[in-house]
Amino acid sequence: MDTERNGRIIIAGTGPVGLTAALALADIGMPVTLAGPPPSSDDRRTTALMTPALAFLDGLGVLAVIGPRAAPLKVMRIADATKRLIRGPVVIFRAAEIGEDHFGLNIPNRDLNAALESAVAAHPAIEWRRVLVESWTIGGGGVLARLADGSTVEGALAVAADGRLSPARAAAGIRVTTRSYPQAALVLNFSHSRGHGFVSTEFHTETGPFTQVPLPGDRSSLVWVVNPKTAEELAALDDASLSERVEEQMQSILGRVAVEPGRQVYPLGATLPVRFAQNRVALVGEAAHVFPPIGAQGLNLGIRDVRDLVQIVTENRNDPGTERALSAYDRRRRPDVLARAGAVNLLNLSLLSDMLPVQLARSAGLGMVGGFAPLRALFMREGLQPGSGFASMLSGLREQVRR
Ligand SMILES: Cc1cc2nc3c(=O)[nH]c(=O)nc-3n(C[C@H](O)[C@H](O)[C@H](O)COP(=O)(O)OP(=O)(O)OC[C@H]3O[C@@H](n4cnc5c(N)ncnc54)[C@H](O)[C@@H]3O)c2cc1C
Repeated sequence: MDTERNGRIIIAGTGPVGLTAALALADIGMPVTLAGPPPSSDDRRTTALMTPALAFLDGLGVLAVIGPRAAPLKVMRIADATKRLIRGPVVIFRAAEIGEDHFGLNIPNRDLNAALESAVAAHPAIEWRRVLVESWTIGGGGVLARLADGSTVEGALAVAADGRLSPARAAAGIRVTTRSYPQAALVLNFSHSRGHGFVSTEFHTETGPFTQVPLPGDRSSLVWVVNPKTAEELAALDDASLSERVEEQMQSILGRVAVEPGRQVYPLGATLPVRFAQNRVALVGEAAHVFPPIGAQGLNLGIRDVRDLVQIVTENRNDPGTERALSAYDRRRRPDVLARAGAVNLLNLSLLSDMLPVQLARSAGLGMVGGFAPLRALFMREGLQPGSGFASMLSGLREQVRR
C-alpha cells in the first residue's frame, strides 16, 4: 500500500463521534471514507454538550439545525440524597457566576445524529459506505478494510470510532482494561407541571446519580443509575407508577411528573485502552474511553478527541498514520482522558462505598466546593474546558500580584 499516493483516512463507526470525525477531517481537505450503517433513530437519550463542544459542532455547520430542539443549561445543582450518616450540602453551579449565559445545551441524540448524518451525506469530500467493516489488515505502510458488501478500502490511517467493543482497536493490537459496575442507567424523558428554569439537578444516591436535565418546554430528560435488577423492575412499571416513582425521587421539585413513552436501560462499565493510537489506528469516542454517565463527560471528551486528531493530521498531512503522528496523538489525549475517567470513576465509587471515611471525604469535598466561590469557579471552568479553570485562576493571581 502506497501511503504517498493514498493519504486516505478510513473512519469506522457512524455514532456521533465517527460522523463528527468524518466532517472535521474532510473539512481540512483530507480524503475520507466513512464505514458504517446510518445511525439508529431509536436512541431516546439526550446529551448535554458544553460550550467548547458546541463551538466545534458550530464550526462544522451542524449547530444551527439542532439549536431549537435543545435546552440551555444555566444552573447545575448537586444534591446528596443518600440516607447515610454523613451527607454533603447542596452545591449549586451557576453559569452567570463565571460570566457565561449557559454551560451548554441538552440535545436529544436523535436530533444530533440526524443533523450530523445529513451534513455527512451532503459533504462532497466524504465517501460514505453504509456497511460495517468486517476485517482489517494492517501493514506495508497502510491499512486495508474489508467491508460487509465485499468491497475494500485502503488508507494511511484508520480512525476507530466503532464504539466500546471496537474491532479496529483489536485489529491494531491495543489492549484495554475493562471493569463492569453493579449499576445500570434507566433513561427516559418526562413532562412536569412546574417549570425547570433551565436548572439540571443531580441527586446522589447510594446506587448512583439520578440526573434530571432540562429539555425545551416543561420537559426534562432523566438518567437514573440503580442496580441492574432495579433498573429492569422500574422499566417494567406502568406509566402512572413510574411517574410516581420519578416524582418521589425528585422530591416533587418539578411538581407532577408524567413519563413519556420509551424507556431504555444501559448497563454501566468502564473501559480504557493502554494506548490511544498504534499501528495506523487512532481511537476516538467510546473506542477510547467508556465510563459511567456522571457529569456529562463522554461525548464532550469524544469531540475533544476529534479536535486533537484534526490538529495531528494537519501537522502530518502526507502520512497521518506514521508512528510519529500516532505517538503525538497518544501524548495529546492521555492526560485529558485519564483525568476525566479517573474523576468520574472515583465519584461513582465514592457513591457506592459504605465506608465512613469515603463518605466523609465526599461530603467534605462537596462542602468545600459549595462554600468557596473561587473553587466553584475553578470546577465550572474546568468542567467546560480542561486547563481553562487553572489558566483563569493563574491570571487572577498574576493580576493580584501586579496590584
Ligand atoms: C445513559 C447515558 C447518558 C449519557 N449522557 C451523556 C451526556 O449527557 N453528555 C456526554 O457528553 N456524554 C454522555 N454519554 C456518553 C455518550 O453517549 C457517548 O460518549 C457517545 O455516544 C459515544 O459515541 P461514539 O460515536 O463514540 O460511540 P457509539 O455511539 O457507540 O457509536 C459506535 C458506532 O460504531 C459502529 N460500529 C461498530 N462496529 C463497527 C464496524 N465493525 N464497522 C463499522 N461501524 C461499526 C456502531 O454501529 C455504532 O454506530 C451518555 C452515555 C449514556 C450511556
